Amino acid sequence: MDERTDPTATPPAAPDVPGPHTDRTRIRRHADRAVPERVEEFLMAGQIAHVACVDDGEPRVIPFLYHYEAGHIYIHGSPGNATLGLLRDGRSVAVAVSKLVDLVASKSASGHTANYRSVVAYGTGREIDDIAEKRRILDAMTARYFPGRAVTTDYEPATDEDLKRMRLTDIAIDEASAKMRDDGPPGPHDAEPDFPGSAFIAPV
Ligand SMILES: Cc1cc2nc3c(=O)[nH]c(=O)nc-3n(C[C@H](O)[C@H](O)[C@H](O)COP(=O)(O)OP(=O)(O)OC[C@H]3O[C@@H](n4cnc5c(N)ncnc54)[C@H](O)[C@@H]3O)c2cc1C
Repeated sequence: MDERTDPTATPPAAPDVPGPHTDRTRIRRHADRAVPERVEEFLMAGQIAHVACVDDGEPRVIPFLYHYEAGHIYIHGSPGNATLGLLRDGRSVAVAVSKLVDLVASKSASGHTANYRSVVAYGTGREIDDIAEKRRILDAMTARYFPGRAVTTDYEPATDEDLKRMRLTDIAIDEASAKMRDDGPPGPHDAEPDFPGSAFIAPV
């Protein structure tokens, strides 16, 4: 059994990336798919962060582009953005980042599934006001989504006024879990060539 499938494996020390350390981040269903040592890798590769918090007793969730760096998820938007406004008071926030890798078809209805990589992170938000820090994060975020594009060569840099108008929130991760499925069709007849139907893996 390798470390990815051993639920008792201790994740390697990663000082910047808090792994699971309370019951909140214990993966219950398919604990064998827990990959705590890959939290940072998945966050660096993800594209959309679904950011959730509670407002006046009601759940809220909104999708954002994001940047990940050393245990912090950064999200940005206009000053009127409701989620960024709520997070200014340091309330708890949950973030889900997931990537669909394959659709997995089975010869049995209940065997249809997907291969994926996902992270759920919990933390608190803090607004960043420092213009130099805003510029650094924005440039890093742009470079992550558009590798190879260079500020000044491919696009003009943001002005200080642009950066003052942009709200940037730093979500410091308290703890995070990662889970993945990377397997074939799981149905009871999928390995039987003579059983009617079809079973396959379709990359997304
Ligand atoms: C992939 C992706 C990436 C995005 N990245 C960013 C980003 O980096 N920065 C940014 O500011 N915005 C981003 N957006 C837009 C973002 O999701 C919000 O729509 C936007 O921030 C406006 O928020 P608000 O404060 O006006 O809405 P809120 O006041 O927060 O929302 C009010 C209601 O509007 C509805 N709503 C709001 N947004 C959406 C949505 N996207 N889809 C469906 N219903 C919605 C919901 O019902 C919500 O309860 C992204 C959207 C997507 C899909």
